[in-house]
Amino acid sequence: MTRATLIKTIWVLFMSLFLSVQGLSQAHAAANGGTEHKHEGVICAVALVAAEQTALTPPLPFASPPEIAQTPLWQPLVERNLPRTFDGRAPPPRAPPTL
Ligand SMILES: [Zn+2]
Repeated sequence: MTRATLIKTIWVLFMSLFLSVQGLSQAHAAANGGTEHKHEGVICAVALVAAEQTALTPPLPFASPPEIAQTPLWQPLVERNLPRTFDGRAPPPRAPPTL
């Protein structure tokens, strides 16, 4: 057995032990309902830890930021109501034909 294989084997055994203890402690806390209980006259610490974690509250939802009123980037066209004349471009007035 090489050294790398030995390290990997120890690592797998350690992780399986860690996960097993976590699962067993959570199963024990769930079996007792997270309440305080005793084993042979000694208060169980696993249930006390589980009871503290049940007091977590969900985070509040994010509030959308308030909308800021912006001035428009364009100005409305002001329409002037002046009388329109075409005197400068109109031809000179004609007289009636003289015959
Ligand atoms: Zn217990």
